[in-house]
Amino acid sequence: MSFPDKKPHPDLFKKYNIQGPRYTSYPTVPYWSENPTPEKWLETIAQAQDEGAAKGVGAAIYIHIPFCESLCTYCGCNTRISRNHAVGMPYVETVLKEWALYQTRLKELSGNRTRITEIHLGGGTPTFLSPQELGTLLKGILDHVEVTTDFEFSVEADPRVTKREHLSVLREVGFKRLSLGIQDFDPTVQNVVHRIQSEEQVHEVTQTARELGYTSVNYDLIYGLPFQTQQSIHQTVDAVCRLRPDRIAFYGYASSCR
Ligand code: SF4
Repeated sequence: MSFPDKKPHPDLFKKYNIQGPRYTSYPTVPYWSENPTPEKWLETIAQAQDEGAAKGVGAAIYIHIPFCESLCTYCGCNTRISRNHAVGMPYVETVLKEWALYQTRLKELSGNRTRITEIHLGGGTPTFLSPQELGTLLKGILDHVEVTTDFEFSVEADPRVTKREHLSVLREVGFKRLSLGIQDFDPTVQNVVHRIQSEEQVHEVTQTARELGYTSVNYDLIYGLPFQTQQSIHQTVDAVCRLRPDRIAFYGYASSCR
């Protein structure tokens, strides 16, 4: 791969070379203006549900799976590090209990059934759960809701622990978008950030996803990690180009998950 000789305009550096909020919610947390009570929170969701029903749109829900087998040193996510996979099913059961509470209260507050357009599974590492646990979780979420025809389900995955069976069970309930944490392929960088994964592992998960019918595979990359150099970044970008993801998110150190 070759890079253009053109230097970016200094005004662009000035504009974008600033710290920004994490973009995991919109509006991002610094712009939240209220600290709602639980009741106000439920009323707001019920109202949004009714407004969505009137416009024919469904809700987007995010489900957090906090577990990871080991800690990446750049991690800024809410994680629980464990190699004990017995924690998975109790967590799934707890999420489903919370979901049932929402469903009960929303039925009282809203005249409409919950409609879902998007599900996002993130973490942590969603594929820390076994394929069976993922299946139980999603069946429990989807059982009593209506899914709109334009639905879009996505999952974040760690290539080191994601197997064909995980992708298959997700695909069966409609997942088509996969996002893989890559960050950097340089062995020195991987060693220092405690995240060692090969190009082959990433290739295999990407290929498997495509075989199963996933239509969008995203790679997350980070700049600004310790021991990264321009050359190591060029090499990582070359490897990414060989693997041909559909989308790349390339963002600054201190704002990443997976
Ligand atoms: S970066 Fe991702 S895989 Fe690594 S510890 Fe954090 S959540 Fe887990």
